Amino acid sequence: MKNTTNQLHHVVIVGGGAGGLELATKLGDSLGRQGKAIITLIDQSKTHVWKPLLHEIAAGSMNPEKHELVYLAQAHWHHFNFRLGSMDGLNRAKREISIAPNFDEDGVEVIPRRTFQYDTLIMAVGSTTNDFGIKGASEYSIALDTQEQAERFHRRLHNALLRAQTQTSPVQAGQLEVVIVGAGATGVELSAELHNTTRELAAYGLDKIDADRDINISLIEASERVLPALPARLSDSVELELKKLNVHLYTCLLYTSKGFIGVVDHSPATIPMDANGLIANARPYRIQRDLNLPSSFMIDDLAKGDIDIAIAWGPIGGYFAKQSKVPMVVVPIPEYETTNAKGKEYWNISVGVRKKDKDRMKMIDAALERNQVAITKILDDYGIPHVPVVEGDSLMKSFQKYGANSKGADDKIIQK
Ligand SMILES: Cc1cc2nc3c(=O)[nH]c(=O)nc-3n(C[C@H](O)[C@H](O)[C@H](O)COP(=O)(O)OP(=O)(O)OC[C@H]3O[C@@H](n4cnc5c(N)ncnc54)[C@H](O)[C@@H]3O)c2cc1C
Repeated sequence: MKNTTNQLHHVVIVGGGAGGLELATKLGDSLGRQGKAIITLIDQSKTHVWKPLLHEIAAGSMNPEKHELVYLAQAHWHHFNFRLGSMDGLNRAKREISIAPNFDEDGVEVIPRRTFQYDTLIMAVGSTTNDFGIKGASEYSIALDTQEQAERFHRRLHNALLRAQTQTSPVQAGQLEVVIVGAGATGVELSAELHNTTRELAAYGLDKIDADRDINISLIEASERVLPALPARLSDSVELELKKLNVHLYTCLLYTSKGFIGVVDHSPATIPMDANGLIANARPYRIQRDLNLPSSFMIDDLAKGDIDIAIAWGPIGGYFAKQSKVPMVVVPIPEYETTNAKGKEYWNISVGVRKKDKDRMKMIDAALERNQVAITKILDDYGIPHVPVVEGDSLMKSFQKYGANSKGADDKIIQK
């Protein structure tokens, strides 16, 4: 809203995480301090803890109170407002958001429902762990997205150790078992931290627990190695260190009920796969520009039977499928109209010229038209699939802008 007293522009930021907190601080230090705008940060927590530290809270090696930042204090120092609450509604016509009421542990309302008006609204609410709809996952596991979850995990671990120490019967095999799903940086660091803190706890008088014998830490990863996003040599040395800590590693482990689907990690195809309940079947692959691997590596896995379907970029999938001794069927995957630009499957490939070079563009366009049959034959010979130019794509728009015949463009082939 234009603030009624001074008509200032009101910037509302929802979410005080890595992005929102820094933005509020910078805007407060500039526009807020100079009285040029009102900056309001809204978060559902009173304090901010940097997420990469959550595994240390979970393991118990860090006291969160020493590392958390109190939003109210930060707001005071950096000339913005902080409001506590969880946003649960947005009215774009009224430029208004609503914040749910806040209750104490006894269910007594502390802060009533409120609305805030904005001139500029910034949503910085972050993301949460995807359980891919796997049955029981959200019920029986603890995600590591928030401080509260990290503390809950730590309490549970602590209680399990106390229970084992004080029970009359001996510690049972499998009683103190921690399974971490995902061997990215957080999973790896958490397993190593847990190894250390559980041993420290046991050393502080929990004499009934033999940490090496009774505490088992397992790390499960869908890819073929830990830290799949990092170079293989790093994974090798980390695996070695984890084995020294007696962390049990299980790689290439996927939950699946319908077979394995190879797909390049973070590629557009993962969005409709997620939307259609297939992401739990995904076997993630690195993009095919890893020079340590042959470009055919996903198709080779398909031939070996390690995966059942490979979702690959047309020129790579089609070419290697045609070379393969194991017969394969190449089909274009559907274009999902409902997904956003990142879920788009078909991408027109065009020739770029300098903006003013309209004559050159027409010349190239004419050459493509003239040689269309020969080009199609080359693509077919190499097994590269092609589908019609996507209607409404920016390529079509630029053809129209530069006066090229849009019907011709329609007929032109593209690669998927
Ligand atoms: C365990 C863990 C370890 C990580 N380690 C690293 C690392 O080492 N390096 C790295 O670069 N990245 C790491 N990341 C990723 C990094 O933390 C995120 O990319 C980053 O925090 C995203 O910033 P953000 O501002 O978008 O959201 P977040 O930091 O997630 O902040 C979102 C904020 O929005 C608030 N919020 C959510 N919903 C509402 C609502 N309805 N109303 C009001 N407030 C709301 C939340 O309370 C939170 O404060 C890690 C993430 C996790 C979970």
